Formats: sequence, C-alpha cells, structure tokens
Amino acid sequence: KLAIGILEIQGAFNEHHVALRKAQKCLNIPDLEIIGVRHPDHISDNMDGLIIPGGESTTISLFLKRNKMDEPLRKWINSKGHVTWGTCAGMILLSKQTENQKIGGQPSLAEMDIDVSRNFFGRQINSFEAPVKLKQTLFVPADFKNCDTDDIYHGVFIRAPAVVEICSPEVTALATLDRSGSGQTEVIVAVQQGNMLATAFHPELTDDVRWHTHFIEMTCMAKRNSNV
Ligand code: GLN
Repeated sequence: KLAIGILEIQGAFNEHHVALRKAQKCLNIPDLEIIGVRHPDHISDNMDGLIIPGGESTTISLFLKRNKMDEPLRKWINSKGHVTWGTCAGMILLSKQTENQKIGGQPSLAEMDIDVSRNFFGRQINSFEAPVKLKQTLFVPADFKNCDTDDIYHGVFIRAPAVVEICSPEVTALATLDRSGSGQTEVIVAVQQGNMLATAFHPELTDDVRWHTHFIEMTCMAKRNSNV
C-alpha cells in the first residue's frame, strides 16, 4: 500500500489532498493513504512520498524548526525510496541556495542543488497564470485526456519563485516559462533531482492532475526499487 504525506502547516495543503485523490483515480491505484504531516511522529518510514505545499516559506520553515521537524524531515528525504515534491514555497524550502541567502538567512531544508529566487516574478499582485512548456514527458495514464497539448501545462504562479541556476548535473529542468516578451528568455519553473521534484507553480490549483500522477508514479517506482 502506498502512503503519501502532505505537510499540513500552512498554505495549499487541502488542494493537494483533492488533487492526489483525482490522480489516484486516473491511475487506478486502489490503495493510497494520505497522511497529514503536522508532528515529528508523523514522519516515518511508513510514508513513501511527501508533498511540501506552497504558502510562505519563512512561516513553514520557522514552524518546522520550532517543532523539531526540520532534522527528521531532512533525514526522511535522504532515505532510500522516499520521494519528495515541493510546490512554490516547497521549492524554496528544498533549494540549497536562494538569492536571499547572500543577504540574510534563508529558511531551507537545503536538499536540491538549485539556486532559487524567492519572489522572482515580483510581489503578490504580480501573480499570474501562463502556459509552461514541458521539457520532459510526465508520467500520465495512457488514456489521459485532460490537457490541451502534451507539452503545455497551465501554470498558476502566486508570488512564485524560479530556478535561476541549476548547480548539479543531477538536476533536470522539467518545465520552462517563456518570458521573451518581457525581455527575458526561458525561465526554469520545474526541476527533478533523483527522488525530488520541485515546481514553482501550483498544480494543485488546476484540474490538470498530470504533476500529481507524475509524482505518484515516481513514488511507486521508488518504493518498488527500494524493495528489491
Ligand atoms: N514566494 C513565497 C515565499 O517566499 C512563496 C509563495 C507561494 O508558495 N505561493 O514563501
């Protein structure tokens, strides 16, 4: 049986819950337990995957520290067979570097070799929706019909970060945003490094569950591989 945790401290965790159930249906997975992670005791090997939702990364990070969840989480993320996905603030928490770090302390679980700019697109009022281009094929069911085209995904960006630098060959860019209209080139907005996935946008706020099916498939695969 597969178990996926959602960090339920602050932010869009309910929406992830709903999207996971939809993706489960799409993938025809009979048994999926969803664990609300709010306490160090909830972080265990019984959990195969973990979603760190969007919200406010400083708030989430302070909560993790105060409640002594940061170290157990780091350990859990680094254990074989565990798959982690950070969306928006979750991406910031997973990054090893942020531009802000150079100025004054940055909240972080520091696991992915990426440099992230926290509010890359500006402030809350600069939030927007735009198509992102998929650079890699996501795991989706063969009969999946919920998307306009295979390599476009409708991204919801809420005071979103962006990956300004990939710092290791282990990291793959999964999606980019074309900003050529604004004088910038393609901006990296989704990455994968081994069993870690990070998206700058909020897939849980759309009906297109391809990122959730991708994450569930990653988790199934990692679980299978760690059992052999
Ligand atoms: N930029 C925000 C932060 O620093 C994240 C915004 C979001 O998760 N929607 O935490």
